[in-house]
Amino acid sequence: MQTNFSAAQLADPHVAESEKILRKCVHCGFCTATCPTYVTLGNELDSPRGRIYLIKDMLENGRPADKEIVTHIDRCLSCLACMTTCPSGVNYMHLVDHARAHIEQTYRRPLLDRLIRAMLAFVLPYPGRFRAALKLARLGRPLIGLLEKLPTLKPVAAMLEVAPSSIPPASRMATPAVHGGQGTKRGRVAILTGCAQSVLDPAINEAAVSLLTRLGVDVVVPEGEGCCGALVHHMGREDQALASARQNVDAWMRAIDQGGLDAIIITASGCGTTIKDYGFMLRLDPAYAEKAARVSALAKDITEYLAALDLPEPVRKPGTIVAYHSACSMQHGQKITRQPKELLAKAGFVVREPREGHLCCGSAGTYNILQPDISAKLRDRKVTNIEATGASLVATSNIGCITQIASAAKLPVVHTIKLLDWAYGGPKPDGVSENSLGGAE
Ligand code: SF4
Ligand code: SF4
Repeated sequence: MQTNFSAAQLADPHVAESEKILRKCVHCGFCTATCPTYVTLGNELDSPRGRIYLIKDMLENGRPADKEIVTHIDRCLSCLACMTTCPSGVNYMHLVDHARAHIEQTYRRPLLDRLIRAMLAFVLPYPGRFRAALKLARLGRPLIGLLEKLPTLKPVAAMLEVAPSSIPPASRMATPAVHGGQGTKRGRVAILTGCAQSVLDPAINEAAVSLLTRLGVDVVVPEGEGCCGALVHHMGREDQALASARQNVDAWMRAIDQGGLDAIIITASGCGTTIKDYGFMLRLDPAYAEKAARVSALAKDITEYLAALDLPEPVRKPGTIVAYHSACSMQHGQKITRQPKELLAKAGFVVREPREGHLCCGSAGTYNILQPDISAKLRDRKVTNIEATGASLVATSNIGCITQIASAAKLPVVHTIKLLDWAYGGPKPDGVSENSLGGAE
């Protein structure tokens, strides 16, 4: 695509990066067919190509964001299906991240929207605040029906709707410690404790640590780790996202200095995509660029790491039919498609892939709160495809997808690592009946 930026505009490294991306787009439109919002809404401006034109126009003319561009960029899930489809290698992720930061800096949203976004950014990345907010949300649940009738308050209704009715107790796996591997040592890793997942389902990291240590891997929970920054990054709050990235880089560099790390293990694929991008996000910060690139190179999804470990034969032989839902951040963000399915199959599960597996389930960080109508349509489409597989349960590797799909599916939705841990001798995942697992000892 031809661009028309001035030399002065290109002196801004963010604009220069976006210009490089824009020039790669050849307008072919292949990406539209796999874009969930285009498939759902049928509007070119809600397709990747349409958004790319809008972003180009805004940046080239040095304009502040307006209502039209905000509407269409806000509807983008950042699912990155367009990047998987694009034959020209357009890095839509970096382009839309830049557009979101530009929107945040130049557009004044309506008051209620500002308040909701500020509240999400204040609460979600901090486990203590998030836990307290979930307790409060239980009191507000009776108001859901009323709030849903008022268009501007729909996000509040969506927030109350996705809040679980019970919250598990805090896990010891979130406390800084070194969990020693058993038997012959096979590695030393750090594990991201993160934010929302550690509150909603701490058993995910417990299963990861339990399986890794049984396999002989030392697992470090470093002091000072926190949210990866993805939730606020996708809201265009760059300063907050970069502060989270720097905090984690510092925590992991200390762990590297204190005994080395073979990998930084992530059990939420949404966080994995962002941490693997820290090197890019902090490239302009001389104090962090090199360290961030090192951290990104060490970042591994738990299934990537396990696939390289050469696992023994499982203790149980389940034979259970599992529908594997590949989170967008897993398949499009990190391009991890093979390992989770192969690990599940090796552990004795029969893996089925739902139709339209490339389409987002509508969770996408805070999307299910901020865009509840589109999100619900995508969720229902996903659940229909999953249930058509005839599986007894759903395996996936991102807490957002787990919460979203579980809110409408009749089947239990379980993190992949919990199923693997169980097959290799760990406890039965909570909320899954023996019947669903069908595990023969
Ligand atoms: S990230 Fe997803 S929703 Fe956004 S333009 Fe690309 S395919 Fe469409
Ligand atoms: S597929 Fe790639 S090159 Fe074609 S319109 Fe989409 S982003 Fe541009």
